[in-house]
Amino acid sequence: MRAKVRAIKHDNKIAFSNHIYRQTGRLIDTHSFYDVHIKRLHEYKRQLLNVLNIIGLYIDIKENPNKEFQPQTFLFAAKAAPGYYMAKNIIKLICFLGKEIENDPAVREKLAVVFLENYNVSMAEALVPAAELSEQISLAGKEASGTGCMKLMINGAMTIGTLDGANVEMLDAVGEENMYIFGLTSSEVDNLWLRGYNSAEFYANNEKLRKIINALNIGFAGESFADIASYLLTGQGVADPYMCLADFESYRTTHARAISDYQDKDKWNRMSLLNIAACGYFAADRSIKEYAENIWNIKRLTDKK
Ligand SMILES: *Cc1c(COP(=O)(O)O)cnc(C)c1O
Repeated sequence: MRAKVRAIKHDNKIAFSNHIYRQTGRLIDTHSFYDVHIKRLHEYKRQLLNVLNIIGLYIDIKENPNKEFQPQTFLFAAKAAPGYYMAKNIIKLICFLGKEIENDPAVREKLAVVFLENYNVSMAEALVPAAELSEQISLAGKEASGTGCMKLMINGAMTIGTLDGANVEMLDAVGEENMYIFGLTSSEVDNLWLRGYNSAEFYANNEKLRKIINALNIGFAGESFADIASYLLTGQGVADPYMCLADFESYRTTHARAISDYQDKDKWNRMSLLNIAACGYFAADRSIKEYAENIWNIKRLTDKK
């Protein structure tokens, strides 16, 4: 049964990659690991934290070309309001990083970064069943609920996430051994703001982060992203307002653990199946029943003959 779960996932990856090939002419390696970050583009949802880690992987591959590396495809899709400058800047970073990697023969077999245009329900219908890792990495305290997290979970993706929004209920349902939880809790976030958050300290104390921020300054595919580097380190008003640097090391090591678990196929398949099974709790019927009882104070109509 576990092997069947994996075979279904692989079929879904093929269907998705065919869909993308028809739509864009782009080939996505179905044997790479599908890491999926799909939701509105917003600073609090921290697509930027994901990108920082990808840049770290890219630097790693360049520095250690002979080290074994699980091929990974990072898929982003998002909507951004046309006036949201920072969101568009992050989309641009994702696109240029993807372009540089694609043009580097030493790296493109191992790493791909794709920003899919026009994220909508049809795209989600192809993408969600193909996902192997679901990125739910908002800064703790910011996501009211989220629904994408559950769609990906019921389709057998593992979740890497913070203790935020519905991730908390998912953790209760599936257990911490079947989910990749990382980062500050919302009370730790509050305390860090009160103490005075200084992102530059995290930069100073983490060699990887320094290399990554430096790479942003130099840029990708001929385009500098020094403005994003200074957003993280000095900011206009407050530096790194969504604490990407504070959560970076925890995110990086947790992501690496997920990739290492993925090498153990049977373990991964088992976790995937347990995630699907635990989703029963998120049925709309249960949820609506609780609303009816606890919030709306209404009774169910009994069936009339
Ligand atoms: C589910 C869904 C969303 C919301 O995703 P979140 O991860 O909960 O923010 C947005 N757009 C589409 C097309 C969706 O299917």
